[in-house]
Amino acid sequence: MARHLDPIDGPTACHLDPIDGPMACHLDPINGPMARPTQAAAAAIVNFVSDSVMQIFRETGAYLTGHFRLTSGLHSNEYLQCALVLQHPAVAERFGRELGAQLPACDVVASPAVGGLIIGHEVARAMARPGASPRFIFMERDNGKMTLRRGFSVQPGERAVVIEDVVTTGGSTREVIEVLRQAGVQVVAAGSVIDRSGGTVDLGVPRVALATLTVVTHAPEDCPLCRQGIPVVKPGSRPTAAG
Ligand SMILES: [Zn+2]
Repeated sequence: MARHLDPIDGPTACHLDPIDGPMACHLDPINGPMARPTQAAAAAIVNFVSDSVMQIFRETGAYLTGHFRLTSGLHSNEYLQCALVLQHPAVAERFGRELGAQLPACDVVASPAVGGLIIGHEVARAMARPGASPRFIFMERDNGKMTLRRGFSVQPGERAVVIEDVVTTGGSTREVIEVLRQAGVQVVAAGSVIDRSGGTVDLGVPRVALATLTVVTHAPEDCPLCRQGIPVVKPGSRPTAAG
């Protein structure tokens, strides 16, 4: 089924089946009817920055509804896989611009690998100004400890912004902030595409997100979807406890 995205120009028609998850999207930004996606399963989403951002998640299959077993073992009727949005470079570029526009000027954008790599790079690109283009660097875990490797370096007094794809507990972002501070860097803000904490995570610096969610979960023994006999699936993968 042909599908094309037009992330720049905003909403386009998209026909989704809320029970069976993402279906082929029929997009025609010029002639199509401006049908709205079914909202039936979206009750937990408290704040998308715009309808068009939410629509991109639906169109790319990054926002799934169904019956999912999360990494925590809890069940949910929603699942959000940010990588599926960022697989589209035009979408990643747009999200980078939208985040970058809300962030203060900096010398360096830093992200925890792997989740923050694409969006952090796009944010740094979007924040580039003549004569003042921030670098993009990333940190990795070395024996479990967030570390600057690969010859990346920062200088005392530099200003940094920390970018992650999804903030759940804020753990990875917090570790990157701590490494930067120990190097004398001033961390001026943090950002993510998704905030799954419902806005509750406090990183000690101003923080922005394109979408803020509260994920409704159920213990398996108390799951209404299980009681309905709906098969449970394990989407995506998140083998580490980071995030
Ligand atoms: Zn269940």
